[in-house]
Amino acid sequence: MKLHTRILIGMAVGVILGLLFGPTGFVLPKDGVELVTDDVQIMASADLQGAPAPLSKGVSQAVIVQDLGEVLEVRWTLSQTDVLKLQKDKVEGAKEARPGQQLTGYVPDSDDAVERYSTWGTWLVALTEWVGRLFLALIKMVVVPLVFLSLVVGVASLGDLRALGRLGSRTLGFFFVSTICALTIGVTLANVVQPGKLLTADDKARLLRNFAKEAGDKLSDAADAPGFVDTLVGMIPTNPIEALASGDMLQIIVFAALLGVALTFLKGDRAAPVVDVFDRLNDAMVMLVHLAMSLAPYGVAALLFKVAGTTGPTVLLALLGYALVVLAGLALHMGLTYGLVLWFGAKLNPIRFLGAMREALLVAFSTSSSSATLPVTKECVEQNIHVSPKISSFVLPLGATVNMDGTALYQGVAAIFIAQIYTGGLDLMQQLTIVGSATLASVGAAGVPGAGMITLVMVLTAIGVPAEGLALVLGIDRLLDMFRTAVNVTGDATATVLIARLEGENLQFLDPSADAASPDVGFEHRLDRGPHPVEVDEE
Ligand code: ASP
Repeated sequence: MKLHTRILIGMAVGVILGLLFGPTGFVLPKDGVELVTDDVQIMASADLQGAPAPLSKGVSQAVIVQDLGEVLEVRWTLSQTDVLKLQKDKVEGAKEARPGQQLTGYVPDSDDAVERYSTWGTWLVALTEWVGRLFLALIKMVVVPLVFLSLVVGVASLGDLRALGRLGSRTLGFFFVSTICALTIGVTLANVVQPGKLLTADDKARLLRNFAKEAGDKLSDAADAPGFVDTLVGMIPTNPIEALASGDMLQIIVFAALLGVALTFLKGDRAAPVVDVFDRLNDAMVMLVHLAMSLAPYGVAALLFKVAGTTGPTVLLALLGYALVVLAGLALHMGLTYGLVLWFGAKLNPIRFLGAMREALLVAFSTSSSSATLPVTKECVEQNIHVSPKISSFVLPLGATVNMDGTALYQGVAAIFIAQIYTGGLDLMQQLTIVGSATLASVGAAGVPGAGMITLVMVLTAIGVPAEGLALVLGIDRLLDMFRTAVNVTGDATATVLIARLEGENLQFLDPSADAASPDVGFEHRLDRGPHPVEVDEE
C-alpha cells in the first residue's frame, strides 16, 4: 500500500477513535471532572457553602464518586508534585499530606467551568501519545542539519552572487504579495459574514471565563517575544554553533547562505571537498526523512487521536460561524491565489500539484507545524515535481520561517471576529492596520503549533482591542491550526515551483506508477533495499 494511503488511514483511525474513545469522546462514561478555571473550587460540604475542601488547592482534575443531582461528590489523589506544591504554598495540613493520599469533596454540576471527561480516555491518550511524539521528534531531528547542509550546497552550486540576490528578492517579493492576498481574502470575508455577530452573549461569557487562563499564558509569551527590529538585527548569528544548537532558523539560513557564498570565492577546487562532504551528509539526512516517514501512519494516528479526543463539541458549536469563515477563506486562498499562480505562473495543474504534495500536506495537517514538515515538503517538491535542490533548499526553509499565509489570513479573521464582539466593528483605518500588523505577525510566528495565536496579540494591540479577547477563539485554535498549517506549507511549495519556473527549470510531475516502480524516485520503497556496510579505504 502507498505511503500516503497508509497515512490517510492512520489519520482516519486517529480521528474516529478519538471521537469515540478520547477524554471527551462519545463512548466512554464521563467519570471525571476538570475544573477549567481557578475560580471554581472543590468544596468541603455538599451544600457548597463554607470553606474549600482541605488540600484541594490547585487540584484541577478529580474522579466522580457520586452524582447528587446539582452537586457531584468527587475524589482526587495527591501526586508527589501536588504534595510539594501544597507544602510550598504552606497550605493548612500540607505537612501531613502524603503522595497517593485520596481525598474527597464537592463541586457544582451545572457550572460551565466544571467539564466532564472520561478518565479512561485520558489514560488512552497518555498511553498512545508517545507514538506521535516519537514521530515528531524523528522528523524534527532532521530539520536543522537538512536546512544547513542543503542550503550550503545549494548556494555554493549557484556560484553567482547575482543569482542569489535575484532568488532572494523574487522569493521575498512573492511571500509579501501572497500574504497580502491572503489577508485581503480573510478581512473581506470576515466583514461580509460578520461571524462576531453570530456568537451569543452566553457563549461569549463562557468562552471568556473558561479560556482566560490559557489566554493569559499566551499573553505573557507574546510579551517575551522580540520586536521587529531586534528580529532583523538578530538574524546574523554571533555564534553560528549556538544558532544551530538552538535551532534558530533565520540565523541558520543566514549563516548557511553566507558560508555557501564564501565557498564560491575559494580558489581552484578548494571548496569541492567540503561541498562534497556536505552533499553526502545531506543525502543521508534525506534517508533519515524516509525512515521517519515510515512511522508517519502510526504517528499521525496518535497525534489526531489526542486532538479529536480532547476538543469538546460545545466549543466547536459555539464558534462554528467563525471557524467556517476561516476555513472558507483558506479554501479561497488555496483555490484562487495559489491556483492562479500555479496555473499561469508555474504552468502546473493545481490539482496535480496538490496530489504531488500530498505527503507534506498530510504531515502538516497532523502535526500543525510547518517547520517539522519542512523535510517532507522538500522531498515532495524535489522528488515529485523535479524542482532542483538549489532552489528548494533556499526557498523552503525561508518560507517555513517567514511565509505563513494561512496564519496571516486566520489572524485577520480572528482579529475582526474579536473586535466585532468587543467594539461592534472597525473602521477602514483599523482594517488596514490589521493587514499591516498581521503581515508582520505572520512573519514573526514560528512554524510550530499555536504560534499564530501568540503573535495575534500584536494584531489585537495594534487595533486597540483587549488582548484577553484571545480567550474567545482559543478553544478551537488547535483544530484551525491544522488547516492553516497545511495552507502555509502549500504557500511555501507554490513559491518554490514558481521561482523554479522563473529560473528556467523544467518541472514535471512524477508519475505515480514510476514512483511505485522505482526505489530511486519518490517516496515509495526508498528503504526497501536495506542497509549495506560502508566500505572504508584503509591506508
Ligand atoms: N502552526 C503554524 C505553522 O506551523 C503556525 C501557526 O499559525 O500557529 O505553520
